[in-house]
Amino acid sequence: MKKRKKLKRKILTYTLTLCFTALIIGIIYFGYTLFFNKEPQKSFLETIETTAYVDIDKYAIYGIHMNMEGTFTLPEEVEEVSLKLTNGTDNININWELTEEENNTYSFITSEYINEGIVLENLPKGEYYLVIETINHDKENNEIKKYYSVQNKTEYEDLEYYTLTKDGKNNKIDIEWNTYEEIPTLKFTIKETTLPDDVYDITIDPGHDAVDGGMTACSDGSTPDYYYGCYTGTTIHESDLNLEVSLELKRILEEMGYKVAMTRDDPEDEVYIYEKNGSATLANDTKSKFSLAIHHNSSGMGGTSYLKGLELYIANDTNLDLAEIFVNEITQNANTTTSPKQEYNIADGIYQRFFTLDEIGDDLGFWTTDMIYYYYIREVGGISTHAAQDGIYKPDYPKNEHYNSNNTAEPYLFELGYMDNYENLLNVLNNRTGYAKGIASAIQKYLEQEV
Ligand SMILES: [Zn+2]
Repeated sequence: MKKRKKLKRKILTYTLTLCFTALIIGIIYFGYTLFFNKEPQKSFLETIETTAYVDIDKYAIYGIHMNMEGTFTLPEEVEEVSLKLTNGTDNININWELTEEENNTYSFITSEYINEGIVLENLPKGEYYLVIETINHDKENNEIKKYYSVQNKTEYEDLEYYTLTKDGKNNKIDIEWNTYEEIPTLKFTIKETTLPDDVYDITIDPGHDAVDGGMTACSDGSTPDYYYGCYTGTTIHESDLNLEVSLELKRILEEMGYKVAMTRDDPEDEVYIYEKNGSATLANDTKSKFSLAIHHNSSGMGGTSYLKGLELYIANDTNLDLAEIFVNEITQNANTTTSPKQEYNIADGIYQRFFTLDEIGDDLGFWTTDMIYYYYIREVGGISTHAAQDGIYKPDYPKNEHYNSNNTAEPYLFELGYMDNYENLLNVLNNRTGYAKGIASAIQKYLEQEV
């Protein structure tokens, strides 16, 4: 009897151990496939058509948007065709302008504006592939879906993007080519992260520096002498005014939770335009999404200017969504008006200044009339804004390391008011917080509407 009992117990122990081991192995295997998401991904990628691919001819990140252009020829006529990010289960539809060039041959662009396209701030966490989805129906009216993958026809490679800080958190987006076997693919991986030390949300460039003070004005409204400054009142340097508004803007943006970089934060600082951490480079050195240059204007006519009010200078090929919010918020918060200046004006308070043929002169070919005149806007935007300082054609200028970049900040240049209009000068001097508040709340409002 005793022996039998012992045997029974032994068998029971063996069975339990076996079951337990099997359970552990099962949990590990299930956890592994779930964690690394190996199986579902593979099965989706296996459904991709291998008879045709979509050529991506251009792609760029500018500010918070990614924009792309491409062409493709489908092997058959289709009822519906759309562009999407998908993993076979979750789909993110992407807006595009699609043109059928000839039978089954198409060209597309995600937006005609450089500051539109895929909103990178919005993408949910996970792994997605960029594909074109086609839909047809067979004789029994069953839906037949096909996926066509994309191939890189540009000189550019993988990209990385950090979303703006929100509640102390960020997402990192890795955009990588050809990660799966022999099939050309573009994979978006979105993961939660915190910003590395050298990555920022927004860059501010307080115009001019200790060497170049910019415009001058006298505190009593008298006209400063070119060499001696002010005979009455004290001399006000634009560089100092720019810095004061910028420091206030930084404080407000940081209160909103953003990480802010500045090209200078002390009146004694010197800033070099194209070198590392310069006016034209810091925003991209720090992977910032927006780059804000703060200036104050002068008519340069001597005496009192009839011009007064805000002028906001923007890039080429942009929609005016954020620019219009900047103008509204600044004029309201700073109790000011937009400038009546007509030259280069494209909308109330908004200006776009391109090079003219006269300004280009003998340098035609290096400068073109679709280039923005102001280096700050042109050079910060990389290929999207036709940046040109390659360090070769004009060796007297240092090279902008980001001139050929397809991953840049979105720049804006503010001329907040006219220092040679006394009424405008007093408003600027007494209302720095209002100007800073206007700029910061415009960014907040734009993101609420766009993201
Ligand atoms: Zn200036």
